[in-house]
Amino acid sequence: MQPDVLQNDIHSLVDELNFAQKVERSLGLIREAYEEYGDGLAVANSLGKDSVAVWHLAKCVSPDIRGFIITTRFKPEETVAFMNQEVSRYPELKVYQNDEPIPDRLYESDPDRCCDILKVLPIRHAIEDMNIKCWVTGLRCTEGRTRTDFLEIEERDKGLIKLNPILIWKEREIWQYLAINQVPVNPLYARGYRSLGCAPCTHITNDLDERAGRWIGTSKCGGECGIHTRPLITDYQI
Ligand code: SF4
Repeated sequence: MQPDVLQNDIHSLVDELNFAQKVERSLGLIREAYEEYGDGLAVANSLGKDSVAVWHLAKCVSPDIRGFIITTRFKPEETVAFMNQEVSRYPELKVYQNDEPIPDRLYESDPDRCCDILKVLPIRHAIEDMNIKCWVTGLRCTEGRTRTDFLEIEERDKGLIKLNPILIWKEREIWQYLAINQVPVNPLYARGYRSLGCAPCTHITNDLDERAGRWIGTSKCGGECGIHTRPLITDYQI
């Protein structure tokens, strides 16, 4: 697959395409990638609203598409319960977690390192373990300041395609899709959360930025765990 739309054009599509056109575009991107990569394609499922929308879209393309979940010891109990529910419904979702010892409250003293150990290392392992050639994400370019520079089709790591099939969807369109298709969602949304992560680093806010409740009070505020910014094909060293 090759990137076919320039960055500026991508941003204009956020408003130019309607909901139904976006659904068709996303299905087409996943279908094309699945035809090319087959079992080498896997969907990353963070158990948030965007991920479950992408997972549902992928399952519309083929029930055989595989997925993986990166979880940590710090996920809220609601997310763990939702994860168990999803995995029992979809056994083709594989769960990865790094249980190695880390310093107490590392998420406060060095959240970048905490995310590297608990999130980036396991995704590197997942990519190798599942022999993934194309991973599919729920990234959207309107989520916040750190998510404006992505393309629908990328090759940030040589030999590993990253497909962002709902890049141009708005938050409202995600909820529209989930409601229309009656897709179950993480119960934390009913409590007011808009972006979900580990319990110590995720808060409810009324900020316009969807990701403003992530890592409040740290240098990572509103930022990224590293899964979308760090190299994913390495020798597993941080
Ligand atoms: S989100 Fe917080 S607790 Fe989770 S891995 Fe990152 S720093 Fe650690």
